[in-house]
This record gives sequence, C-alpha cells and structure tokens, in this order.
Amino acid sequence: MKLYNSLTKKQEVFTPITEGKVTVYVCGITPYDTTHLGHAFTYIFFDVLIRYLEFLGYSVTYTQNVTDINDRDNDILKRAQEQNVPWQNLANFWTDKFLHDMHTLNWRMPDNYLWASAHIPSMIRIIEKLLKNGLAYEKNGGVYLDVRKKEDFGKLSGFSEEKMLEIAKDFEEDIENKDKRHPLDITLWRPTESTQAVHIPSFDSPFGPGRPGWHIECSAMSLCSLGEQIDIHGGGIDLIYPHHESEIAQSEGATGKVPFAKYWLHTHHVSYNGEKMSKSLGNLVMVSKLLEKYEPNAVRYMLLAHHYRESWEFKEGEIGDARKKVKELLRHQVSPHQVTEEIKTYLSSFLPHMENDLSTPTALKALHDLTDEIVTEQNEEVKLLKKQTLHVGLHMLGFIL
Ligand SMILES: [Zn+2]
Repeated sequence: MKLYNSLTKKQEVFTPITEGKVTVYVCGITPYDTTHLGHAFTYIFFDVLIRYLEFLGYSVTYTQNVTDINDRDNDILKRAQEQNVPWQNLANFWTDKFLHDMHTLNWRMPDNYLWASAHIPSMIRIIEKLLKNGLAYEKNGGVYLDVRKKEDFGKLSGFSEEKMLEIAKDFEEDIENKDKRHPLDITLWRPTESTQAVHIPSFDSPFGPGRPGWHIECSAMSLCSLGEQIDIHGGGIDLIYPHHESEIAQSEGATGKVPFAKYWLHTHHVSYNGEKMSKSLGNLVMVSKLLEKYEPNAVRYMLLAHHYRESWEFKEGEIGDARKKVKELLRHQVSPHQVTEEIKTYLSSFLPHMENDLSTPTALKALHDLTDEIVTEQNEEVKLLKKQTLHVGLHMLGFIL
C-alpha cells in the first residue's frame, strides 16, 4: 500500500517497523463541545485505514487519546468555569457524546482509548528524562523543552521560526511566558497555585503542583501503549505545528530513538459557508444534528466520498445524494460465508484504490461500477459472486458491521 507521508512529503510504500505488526496513534479530541464534521472526517478515515490494514493481514494496535486535561486556560477550563462544574465532569460528558456519535457512524473503538488524566506518572517520567538529557529546564515551578537543543526541531512542518511564532500565537502557546528561554520552547509542565478552583486540573509532581502541557500528553500515551517507535501517527492537518512537532521533539528527545513515528498522516479541512470547521468558530456542523435527519451510512458515505487529503466544503445537498448512493450499494450486496479466492479475484477492481493512499472516493466509484455489472449480469453464479464481492468492499469501508 502507498501512503502519503507528511514527514518525507511524498508517497511511500508502507512497510512496518516490525514485520506483520502495525502500531497506530491518532490524536483524539479535547472534549468540551459537540463533535463536528471535521472530527468525523478525521476519525472515520483512520477507522477505514485500520480496517484495511487488518484486511491486509497485519496485526494492528491502535491507540487514540482523550485530551481531558486542558493545558491552556481555554476550552475545557473556560467552559467548566462558566458552568461552575469540575473539569472532569465536563470532559467526561463530552467524551461520552463523542463516543456515542462515532459509534452511531459504525466507528470501531480503538484498542487503547486513553485518557490523559490517567497517565500523569508516564508524563512525569518523560519530563524527568528530558531534564536528565539536558533538553529541558525548570523555571518557577514550570518545565520547558528548549527547542534550540533539538537540532532538527521543525522537520515535520518545515516552517520557519517566523511562521511558527505566528501559528503558536494563534494556538495560545504562551509565547510571551517570561520563564521561557525562547518563545517557541515547549511547555512540559505548567505550574498551578496550590489552592485551585474545581475547574482547573492540578497534580502533584517532583517539579511542584501543576498540569502537563498538551503535547507531552500524547508523547506519554503513545510511548506507554505502543512503545518507543511507532509506524503511523495521525491527526488533523492543523496539528502538524505545534502539536506534532512538539511530540517529535519530546519523544525523540526522551528515548533517543529516531524517528518517533515512521509515517505521518494528516487529514485536511472541512469547511462550511466558506469557513474552516474548527472549535473556535460558530459554524460547526454537528454530527448529532445530521444524524437526526440522515442515516449514519449516508454521513459515512459523504465523508468517504472525499479523499482524506482533500479540503472540501460541506453542502447539505451532498448528503442527500450520498443517502441515495449508499442505499443503492447496500441493496445489491450479499454476505459471503468467507472471502474465497474467487471473491478476491473480483476485488481486483476495488483494491488498487485502497492501495493508492487509501483513495476512498475512487474505491466507492469501483463499487458503483460493480453494482452496474450486478444489475446486468446474466450468469446467476457470477452475479452472486459479484454481490458477495460488493459486501466485502462495503464491509472494508465500514458500512456493514
Ligand atoms: Zn496528540
């Protein structure tokens, strides 16, 4: 299979680090609001990738996290303060909503679904390693990674320092913190006052009371569930900098193993009314709202009708169209008892699309072509085989359990 690797900026033939085994880490949600289509686009893509890797015979271990500890004073913290509830309650409430929406879309639960709040000791261990390795420093109860000590910092994005500063500002990365030696230094541990309100997380640590930085959370959960080096790391394209660059600097800085992840896969933007769907805008298209009106498979079809590296604009007309198309496909499929050699032969018109950087739009097109053949097929035996082949394709794309 060929995949576009954001690290090398080219399509590469996928070969795992350990033969027969694949480890995948995908950055999960920060739970403080409803799941929007941009989230669903990312997580449904990775859901299909995992299904396909398993079809290829790999033993896959898939980790996804919940960023339930808010590093900065926004998102969960802000909402929890506004509603005067403990941060955990708010994070758990929205995680449940997310899982409910995603399960409705036939999304399979990752092997490891990890909460940041349950991994504080692992984060502390990595921070201690970074201090020991001379890459990090302590100042006034906080711990920071000195980006200038990690010589290849920025290798994933290729961004200039100027560009990084601009983005870091948008991400509220605390670039004006006077305790930092350089504005781009990564916050590993953010100090908190000893007496805190219920909406602010605070944990004890050898560096003093505080909470982990956003980026160290993923380095820790990846390391403790998948090991020092992983095959595939994924997430939305906005995470390339600062989040993924920081993860690389932290993980490689702590373990000394390069690369931390062999392949980096990033899903692109979904927009609505000309604006990018993101948490900071009020233009969200909620998955739960769409599911009130449309079947889950219609939503899934619409998402997969776009390649994961395509930025696209959501239009409601498209989901109406997706509904008709998926119904047509489902009407003609028949479940086989097993995937026989004959079915595999018929799959040869479908699989090359999956092999080609998981091109789900053209894979769907191939299934429609197969449906056309089924309708006109005169030989009943061949007709049945083609119906069974259609089932296997639809199962691989997650339309059928
Ligand atoms: Zn992450």
